[in-house]
Amino acid sequence: MVAPAVEPEERELEAALRPKNLDDFVGQERVRKQLSLVLAASKIRGRSADHVLMSGPPGLGKTTLAMIVAAEMNAPLRISSGPAIQHAGDLAAILSSLTEGEVLFLDEIHRMSRPAEEMLYMAMEDFRVDIIVGKGAGATAIPLELPSFTLVGATTRAGLLPGPLRDRFGFTGHLEFYSVAELELVLRRSAGMLDLKLTSAGFSEIAGRSRGTPRIANRLLRRVRDWALVHGIETIDARSASAALDMYEVDVRGLDRLDRSVLEALVNKFNGGPVGLSTLAIAVGEESETVETVAEPFLVREGLLGRTPRGRIALPAAWEHLGLRMPGNAVA
Ligand code: ATP
Repeated sequence: MVAPAVEPEERELEAALRPKNLDDFVGQERVRKQLSLVLAASKIRGRSADHVLMSGPPGLGKTTLAMIVAAEMNAPLRISSGPAIQHAGDLAAILSSLTEGEVLFLDEIHRMSRPAEEMLYMAMEDFRVDIIVGKGAGATAIPLELPSFTLVGATTRAGLLPGPLRDRFGFTGHLEFYSVAELELVLRRSAGMLDLKLTSAGFSEIAGRSRGTPRIANRLLRRVRDWALVHGIETIDARSASAALDMYEVDVRGLDRLDRSVLEALVNKFNGGPVGLSTLAIAVGEESETVETVAEPFLVREGLLGRTPRGRIALPAAWEHLGLRMPGNAVA
């Protein structure tokens, strides 16, 4: 249930819960202050804001911040993504249809094709692109002037961006995982909008299971809301929240079924490892990629799983979390 696939109704709710301005945006103090300065300065200058790069794991608010940049600048927003731009022509079509001051949000910007990326360098710097007409020796470059625009790029992997692209952003904001206290604020705001009543302990219970991620916090809140509705509960306390989330197999540390089965396989079938990723994936009946990209980052961050040159290992906290004693011969 913490997988990225989102139902249409869920998507609508997610959109409704998005903060619309910097004041409503919870946490990320540093990024908020820096961004607010960049926007204020460009408003004073009467020019479109510098290009902004947002980096950080999924669900921490990159898209939300792009929308806020557009709203604060009173500018329209165009949304596209790296994987959707496979040819330079795809990018040229988007850039040439922008209006003066428009904000262009490019999600997963690290996945854009090389030729498009090179076109973007010039567009970001000089608000101009060269459209190549013809092929081979007869090819000519026709310069095309662009309106000034603000590019907001988002990436989960800032390290994958080539230096020349990274350098063309005037400001880079690194989004961090949220503390439990910040997630409680996100949840309070969302509960207000959904007309839900929770006790403080109810909020804490959900926040603690949300993996430092507002998108997950909001999703768990919606599951708890469903549970409370069906059980006729008006005010959701810690016990109700906990019962609801246990039912959805999200445990007290936010591990879901896949996370737990990875740890259980490591511990029960391989005595805590080391074991290769593909063997581990077969043991839990999943694709290697799913284990590597969906479960592992969180388990590593939580200090439950380690990656070694010889394979994955269960760390002492994993045995403890599963209520097991780590045998003396286990590697950790
Ligand atoms: P992805 O990279 O997966 O697209 P993202 O980083 O762009 O994720 P968003 O789509 O901006 O994440 O945020 C996900 C949800 O979390 C939004 O619906 C929004 O309501 C909520 N959210 C994110 N950040 C905050 C915040 N700081 N305060 C309140 N709500 C937030």
